[in-house]
Amino acid sequence: MTLTAPTPPPRRTAPAPHTPDAAAGPLSYLDPQHPGPYAMFLDQVDRVVPYLGPLAVWAETLRRPKRILVVDVPIHLDDGSVAHFEGYRVQHNTSRGPAKGGVRYHQDVTLSEVMALSAWMTVKNAAVNLPYGGGKGGIRVDPRTLSQGELERMTRRYTSEIGLIIGPDKDIPAPDVGTGPQTMAWMMDTYSMNVGRTTTGVVTGKPVSLGGSLGRADATGRGVFVTGAEAMKKLGMSMEGARIAVQEFGNVGEAAARIFHAHGAKIVAIQDVTGTIACAAGIDPALALTHLQRTGAITGLTGTDTLQPDEFWDVACDVLIPAALEKQITLENAGRLKARLIVEGANGPTLPAADDLLADMGVTVVPDVLANAGGVTVSYFEWVQDFSSFFWSEEEINHRLDRLMREAFRSLWDVKEHYNVTLRTAVYIVACTRVLEARALRGLYP
Ligand code: GLU
Repeated sequence: MTLTAPTPPPRRTAPAPHTPDAAAGPLSYLDPQHPGPYAMFLDQVDRVVPYLGPLAVWAETLRRPKRILVVDVPIHLDDGSVAHFEGYRVQHNTSRGPAKGGVRYHQDVTLSEVMALSAWMTVKNAAVNLPYGGGKGGIRVDPRTLSQGELERMTRRYTSEIGLIIGPDKDIPAPDVGTGPQTMAWMMDTYSMNVGRTTTGVVTGKPVSLGGSLGRADATGRGVFVTGAEAMKKLGMSMEGARIAVQEFGNVGEAAARIFHAHGAKIVAIQDVTGTIACAAGIDPALALTHLQRTGAITGLTGTDTLQPDEFWDVACDVLIPAALEKQITLENAGRLKARLIVEGANGPTLPAADDLLADMGVTVVPDVLANAGGVTVSYFEWVQDFSSFFWSEEEINHRLDRLMREAFRSLWDVKEHYNVTLRTAVYIVACTRVLEARALRGLYP
């Protein structure tokens, strides 16, 4: 890794005011009054620019997504009526390789959110050195309100609409909030039908029987565990009996809780959309999952107390794993947190102002762009396996994932120590340097 940064300013020096290229002006498609989640990313870019040395001249590349596609997704509902959904695919950057990132189905999806998520994928992929740029897609829809048939029709139409810009060597979607292996199977089939050949490598996170990878389902939670465990070692925290609070008990939170529990940690609180439970003696994640599947709610599990949602932030714990959506840790609740370590399973769960407060409080944050990179790392393994049509054992996948995440964590921690910055800033320094080095080497076309 080459670091071309000069001696950095102290951590809290206000970043130079964001001065977009004069000819280009600000991003006209974002409402300046309500810029949304992308403002968080712009703030993070402003913080890293002072560390980029001569590459800072290319910083505008980070602020401006390369390509944005907004699509209308009309489908027949089961009752015969027609519904229209708004869909997006944003390719934030492709300097280091094809765009890569998930597709989100959620009622609150906006263009600004998809832009932010795609930009975080650029940083995440570069942080763990995957040969990808960053992309993300989404549809503003509550998938729980659609039947299986409606979901399939919506997914197929959306895939056809974004088919112009995706492809195994152009942009490779994957699951995110509200999507999963079945969604990827429909996307793979639709793309394949449109191009006239089965193209498994166009999406990752597919069912294992369809070119998916062993280990992909648990990969994000596993990466949260690996990076969390490494951070605990650095902080001199013991895994045995460590108290863990998990926000969200889905794909990421459940796997992370299960793996931490298996290594001797104690899950003391779980929060999801159905409620919040706590138990100082520890919750068995397997029992919590069975209870959730049987009753449809996390609350009511024997031996646990039910808390008000806001009380989750006051729970006495050592490690907090926010694994739900963006903007959960705010200036208001950050000061109440008891944890010494936060491992961001979700994308963008901590607002920048809360991040500063946590740093002042001495709380270590393993940022999303490192902590949850396990998912896209095994997506990369899946893509490589699809290309070679040669599949690896689960043991091999987990071994490679653990090693890659551990090594990435250790080298990024060294950068954090070297510059005396937060781990988030360190990850941004390394990732943005990699992206902009590629940018500078490639130069401008024509
Ligand atoms: N949606 C996941 C993320 O935010 C995985 C993306 C992928 O596998 O491409 O990292």
